[in-house]
Amino acid sequence: MNSSTFLPGNNDKTVRTQSTTFHIQPHSKQKVSYFHHKDVGNFHFGLQHPMKPHRLTLTNNLVLSYGLHKKMTVYCPPKATDDELMEFHETDYIKFLKEVTPENSEEFAEDFPKFNISEDCPIFEGLYDFCQIYAGASIGAAHQLASDGADICINWSGGLHHAKRFEASGFCFVNDIVLAIQHLLRFYPRVLYIDIDIHHGDGVQEAFYATDRVMTVSFHKYDSGSFFPGTGNISEIGYGLGKFFCLNVPLKDGIDDDSYVSLFKDVILDVRDHYQPSVIVLQCGADSLGKDRLGGFNISIKAHGECVKFIKSWQIPLLVLGGGGYRISNVARCWTYETGILLDTELQPELPQKNHYYNFFGPDFSLHPPLVRKMDNLNTRSELQKISQQVHELLRFLDGVPSVQMQELPGDLQGILDESDEELRDAREDQTVDVRGRKRLMWHDNEYFDGDSDNDKDDDQNMDVDLS
Ligand SMILES: [Zn+2]
Repeated sequence: MNSSTFLPGNNDKTVRTQSTTFHIQPHSKQKVSYFHHKDVGNFHFGLQHPMKPHRLTLTNNLVLSYGLHKKMTVYCPPKATDDELMEFHETDYIKFLKEVTPENSEEFAEDFPKFNISEDCPIFEGLYDFCQIYAGASIGAAHQLASDGADICINWSGGLHHAKRFEASGFCFVNDIVLAIQHLLRFYPRVLYIDIDIHHGDGVQEAFYATDRVMTVSFHKYDSGSFFPGTGNISEIGYGLGKFFCLNVPLKDGIDDDSYVSLFKDVILDVRDHYQPSVIVLQCGADSLGKDRLGGFNISIKAHGECVKFIKSWQIPLLVLGGGGYRISNVARCWTYETGILLDTELQPELPQKNHYYNFFGPDFSLHPPLVRKMDNLNTRSELQKISQQVHELLRFLDGVPSVQMQELPGDLQGILDESDEELRDAREDQTVDVRGRKRLMWHDNEYFDGDSDNDKDDDQNMDVDLS
């Protein structure tokens, strides 16, 4: 195969119409590779900052204490090089990230607005190392999949879906997901990206908005633009060759296990059947769990894991990444449980006591603590049915592309398409590819963030947030 056939930007229709399948042999055991860099948990965004890389150390320790490392190949991935990062990011931006430090930050202060350096995305000690480590792990994992070294690759330090080509956003400085997908596009005709973080996967959507080689599907909280990052309405459907290859499932606070899992399966099965992906990238942001400090859903670890299990059952090559997650003991529980799922290994519900960080998991010391808040599910049955119906109608267009205009449109769908066209017109007037109208919301504005000090520990008196 000539690898250049599948380079990003090559939208030759023959690529899409190939029926190449990369299914693993049915019933064969899926080979799993796990990427963890020993230093990735040692970085600190700052005292009051909700993003705590230490959650990665907690996760890795829990994975090891359950003995899961014996069932998969474990790699300490090399750091991404400058050139690798610049395959997506602007040279100026990478140069800036490489040079700026807390000590010399005053010299760079005038560049901060340009690169969106802020309270959310602060300059901290070792920032560039951190970026190279988590991005290197995702690129390494993508390479391992593409070279047939594994059927499933895991990098819990990746999944930082908000970073843009030329700026930081939402705690994300470089977009390891885009870099990994760019690598996969050299080997696979169609990449399906699925995002179950509570926040919209805006950076990945934006990067592949105009291509049919990558389909992005994001399930997230959407609140008429007021919840970070402000995008992810159902009307954002892609444009140009990418029109209909972008799908957004906007949800409201309080969604519960049954509603979430049934909608997820209903939507994503139809996506698979229409798009026929040759490889899947799954972003498993754990801030969609109940009791997260920034999120507002009511999902349990089992329900989150059920989404992972469902995708795994398709036996399509799979890259599994982390993402958000701000109740760090629950993040570690969730990603350990999901590592077990990916290894077909059931984990005992009592956490192993032989774990250096055992005390973080009290008072229950369980893999599945109750995560339900006392709050209503604001997603009514009829709203969820409407979303499902709209999504299925949009997916029908994947069969008809590019003869979209010839089809008769159901009433609701016409509204979505009109809105999408309007956004595109606005974007053209602005002469920018970003059709979403950039908004810079702060995560800290979120009502659920309790601003506790950075002691890298989840103490339980902070777990019940008063939402009245
Ligand atoms: Zn998030």
